[in-house]
Order: sequence, then C-alpha cells, then structure tokens
Amino acid sequence: MRRPLMAGNWKMNLDLRGAIQLAAGLKRELSDVEASDIAVFPPHPFLADVCDTLKNSNIEVGAQNVHPEAKGAFTGEVAVPMLTSIGCQWVIIGHSERRDLFAETNEFLNSKLRAALDGGLKPILCVGEHLEEREGGKAQDVVGSQVTACLAGFTAADMEKITVAYEPVWAIGTGRTATPEQANEMHAMIRKLIGELFGPSLAATTRILYGGSVKPSNVKALMAESELDGALVGGASLKVEDFVLIVRN
Ligand code: PEP
Repeated sequence: MRRPLMAGNWKMNLDLRGAIQLAAGLKRELSDVEASDIAVFPPHPFLADVCDTLKNSNIEVGAQNVHPEAKGAFTGEVAVPMLTSIGCQWVIIGHSERRDLFAETNEFLNSKLRAALDGGLKPILCVGEHLEEREGGKAQDVVGSQVTACLAGFTAADMEKITVAYEPVWAIGTGRTATPEQANEMHAMIRKLIGELFGPSLAATTRILYGGSVKPSNVKALMAESELDGALVGGASLKVEDFVLIVRN
C-alpha cells in the first residue's frame, strides 16, 4: 500500500511574511489530515522560518533545488547539509524549469540525487516530456530515458527513499492537465521501468506523483487512478483554500 504524498511547490513566489502566513494557514487547516503525507517547498530564503512555523505539525518542508557538492566555491548555490541543518527533509530534483531554464542534465541530476540521499534528504525526482515530444509519439521514450539516466548507479535500497513525480511539461502552469488516463498510463510505464531496474516489489512500493495544473476541481479524478500516489502542485499550492481542498480531495 502506497501512502499518498501531497506536495506544494511554491516556486519563486511570496515574501517572508506571505510564506509564514501560508505555512501557518496550512498548519491550522490541515492539522487533522491523517490519510496522506504533506510537504511544502518554499523558496530558499524562507525555508528556516517555514520550518519553524511548521514545527510539531503534520506538514514537512523541502527545498526546490540543491547542489551536489557539500560545500565550497559555488556562488549562489545551496548544499544538502545546509538544508538538513535547518530542518528540511525533502528536496525537489529535476523540475522541468531547472532542466529547461538552467540546462540541468540527467547526469547532473543523478549527482544531486546521490548527494541528497547520502546527506539524508528525501528526493522527489521530476520527469516529463514536452508537448512536441508527446505529439511526436515520443513521450514514453523521453520519460523512460530520464528515469533510467537519473537513477543510474542507484541500488534498490536507494530507490526506496526516492519519490518520482511525472510532470508533463505542457501541463505545468498552463491550466492544461493530462487526462487521468494519460497520467495513469505514463505512471504505469514508469513503474514498470522501475521494476525492471530495481525489481517488481520495490516498484510496487515506489511513490509516483502527478504534477501539472492540479487544482481543487481536477484532483479527485486524477487521484482516483490506481497508479497515482499523490500530486506535486505548483500554482494552486500558493493559496491556503486551494491547497487545503486539494489535500482533502
Ligand atoms: C509544478 O511546478 O511542479 C507544477 C506542477 O506547477 P502547476 O501546478 O502550476 O502546473
């Protein structure tokens, strides 16, 4: 049985006061939720305050990005030990905005995953195809090769700690969502591939989230699909009412 994870990626939004208010609102409104895990991913400057705000709650905190090296001359970057030292438990790795806007390759993401696991952070590995790749019938190949390359060299024991998020790039921030059937089909393909790489029992317990314009109005239909184990939510995680409805639905 896979326990759902509902995750909110705040991206580069809010200021300190807004971040604390959002965290406090979620803490208040979601305190009775037991059916799923919940995590939020604020911008780096607000992580420590959000960790403080969410102390003793059922909501965990993660970073949107991390560098593979533990320290050194990497101006502007943030290391795994810095994140764990302030109480971060999660990290998003390979979001399509990092891949597309900051040219992050599968190989670089592989090294970030290694660093996150070695340093005790729980990674969410994002994969997903562009619209032209889907329209060209290449979605499964693209996503399959992202999964294989990003997870190269990992063991089943490593994989137990990794969550995967399938996020079709054409559905992120566009208001256009994959249909529940499209998402389920891709999740099943990813799970099958994880089974081939790490064994079927590990694949059966791997959490695979869907991300891409998840809203209160579509979350129920998406989560009804057997292969979907939660959601990675961008825009709709910035409003207490919307994210609360998404988690509760
Ligand atoms: C995301 O950024 O991971 C995402 C899914 O964004 P949105 O929900 O806004 O499409």
